[in-house]
Amino acid sequence: RSQSDPRRISIFGSTGSIGCNTLDVVAHLGGSDSFSICALTGKGNTDLLARQAIACGAEIAVTADENRYTALKAALSGSGVEAAAGPAALIEAAERDTDWCMAGIIGMAGLAPTIAAARRGSDIALANKECLVSAGELFHREIEGGGGRLLPVDSEHNAIHQVFERDQRHSIERIILTASGGPFRTLDAVQMASVTPDMAAAHPNWSMGTKISIDSASMFNKALEMIEAMHLFHMRPDQIEVVVHPQSVIHSMVGYSDGSVLAQLGAPDMRTAIGYSLTYPQRPALPVERLDFASLSRLDFEAPDEERFPSLRLARRAMESGGLSGAVLNGAKEVALEAFIDGSVGFLEMADIVETVMERLGNGGSATSIEAVYEADHAARNMAQELAAGRLSKSMVS
Ligand code: NAD
Ligand code: MG
Repeated sequence: RSQSDPRRISIFGSTGSIGCNTLDVVAHLGGSDSFSICALTGKGNTDLLARQAIACGAEIAVTADENRYTALKAALSGSGVEAAAGPAALIEAAERDTDWCMAGIIGMAGLAPTIAAARRGSDIALANKECLVSAGELFHREIEGGGGRLLPVDSEHNAIHQVFERDQRHSIERIILTASGGPFRTLDAVQMASVTPDMAAAHPNWSMGTKISIDSASMFNKALEMIEAMHLFHMRPDQIEVVVHPQSVIHSMVGYSDGSVLAQLGAPDMRTAIGYSLTYPQRPALPVERLDFASLSRLDFEAPDEERFPSLRLARRAMESGGLSGAVLNGAKEVALEAFIDGSVGFLEMADIVETVMERLGNGGSATSIEAVYEADHAARNMAQELAAGRLSKSMVS
């Protein structure tokens, strides 16, 4: 392609919260005049996927669900957009030549297509946390091998990327992740034991997908972000701090050896981070809300409570034990979260399940290959499933 050709981009998980925001940013930055859309992907919502693909003139639309191939094909008929379905089709789409890919699929399901796009050499805008949490340095190596850039979209990591002075790396002491504290910040443990999925999905500041919103309520989202930050910025576990900041105005901070702390601030709107990843090192013009400091008037901070939010303690344990601990924590967490959503376990039991799986599987072995990552993930999922179904006692000594 010549320099003057529009950039070729794909959006994995285009039907989700990150995906829809990405399409919105793309439209603001000129749409099909500025970009040529290769692939859009989704899973359940094939009507939305087809509408998106037709509207932006995508080359191919892929649903991860094989059973929805006919529905997608029908919704795209006559449009000229190719239809495909299933996990292998997702990978085939990721292997197409692109300049930039949004990794906006939720969970471990995002790992395989993201690695395929990274190997192909595309820049990866990383919203998905599970790639780094589960595969850590192995994922980095895939990016380096392909030669594309890794641009963090998770708001905290994007904030850190913005204030992380790469040429001053030796004087960076710590990373301070901010956490809103979620909807249960002020509840006691007794109240937390009986919360419902709907209550947990109601995030006070951010509008996001259901699963990440519930993870924010349990602070498993912050737990994943601690591990993500350690890998992304090559820090030691003790260099990653968390502070609760209920207003979500400071998106995260970096502390330097002279005592300076650099922070990135903004309205809680993912389009800022998405736009940054799309035009880096330039900054795009975006219609997001501007901060009005006089009306904000105050910013609050408090220490996180690891008694009520054991997820933070579990993240620290995973970071310190290394190996495939991140894959074990995440695999168990994904299953526990599904079990909470379908009503088979309570809110506080999610952390119990994850802790028990981590105790029994240890660090899951050493991170030698992506296959080893999947094995640790499967082992953790199977055990978490048994625990959630009540077939294994949590107190049983293995
Ligand atoms: P979402 O649930 O709204 O959307 C998820 C997307 O992934 C959808 O397109 C869905 O169809 C697709 N998907 C779901 N399961 C799949 C599977 N098994 N195979 C293939 N595709 C599948 O989620 P979201 O809130 O947009 O989050 C996407 C990712 O970005 C997550 O990893 C999340 O942690 C991260 N993230 C999201 C936000 C946010 O503001 N929503 C912020 C930071 C990070
Ligand atoms: Mg985040």
